[in-house]
Order: sequence, then structure tokens, then C-alpha cells
Amino acid sequence: MSRTHPTEPAPDPRFPFPHTTAPTRCRRDPALFDLGFGDLSGDTKKAAHKRLEAARRSCSACPVVTACLRWALVNEPLTAENVFAGTTPGQRRVLRRRLVDRLGPDWVDVLAARDQARRERAEAARYTPLPVAQARIVHLDRELHGPLRLLPQLTAEEQRLNRSRLEAGLKAA
Ligand code: SF4
Repeated sequence: MSRTHPTEPAPDPRFPFPHTTAPTRCRRDPALFDLGFGDLSGDTKKAAHKRLEAARRSCSACPVVTACLRWALVNEPLTAENVFAGTTPGQRRVLRRRLVDRLGPDWVDVLAARDQARRERAEAARYTPLPVAQARIVHLDRELHGPLRLLPQLTAEEQRLNRSRLEAGLKAA
């Protein structure tokens, strides 16, 4: 979605707008979401509310609605108007006040720090070696079923040995 103007403040780089390949309604029909509340010139209140309801329905079916709301809350200077994630500017003000109550006046930094910690944990988990027992099970499983290594038919004795290794690994896990 691109509803910013080059002269507008830049979005907070810690919270990129959620990527999706889905053709979101706000991309296809941005006018539906451009509701200037308090300035309904050329539009009746009834028509504006009808559009608001249509925008809300679209957002509720959008795959990135949660991340979109987060982005809209964090990027207050960019979202002073219009509908984002089914919310009006007034609703977003209320939500921001709740976030201040819950997380403090620097709630945006708190959220950014949490995101960073989550990313670091996920990254660390990728490189943490498996405990020995689990590694043994994975190894055995690869030997038995792995697509890369074609094992010849195991003898009854080999099968028994593998089973007992697997059971021992499971017990130790
Ligand atoms: S939630 Fe609504 S405003 Fe946000 S990307 Fe989806 S359709 Fe657009």
C-alpha cells in the first residue's frame, strides 16, 4: 500500500509495512479508504459511513490486518487521516492512549525492543546445536527415511539395532 507523499514524514524503519502479494483492497481502491473525517466536503455523512463500512469489511478479510494496525499505530504522523486496518483516526488515538497506559510513554520503543529481542531469539535458535539425544534421533531418522541417502534394505538385525537406538534416544530426550 502506498498512501504516503514524498514530502510526508518517513515511516519508522523499525516497523516496515507488512509485505503481502495479496491484492489488498486499499491498493486496488485507495479512494475507499481516504475518509477525511471532519471534512466531508462533496460527500454526505451517510455516504462517508457507507464507505467506512465497506473499507472495514475489506480490512477484516485482509491477510495483513494485524500488522497493518501496528504499523498505523506506530506511524502516527502518517496516519492522522483515513482508514487503516478498519480503524478511524479517532479509534487509533484511543488505542494509542491504551498503549501508553500499558507500556508507558515510550511504547513505540518498547515494541521495537520486543521485536528486536524476538528476532534475536529466533536467530539464536537457528544456530543452537541440538541436544545430543535429539541430534541422535534426527540422524537416525535421516538414515531411515532421509531422501538423500538411499539405504539398502536393512537386515532384521539392523532394524532391531535401529529400533533400540531410537528408543534409547527417545528415553534420553
Ligand atoms: S488491513 Fe485494510 S488498510 Fe491495511 S493493508 Fe489490509 S486492506 Fe489495506
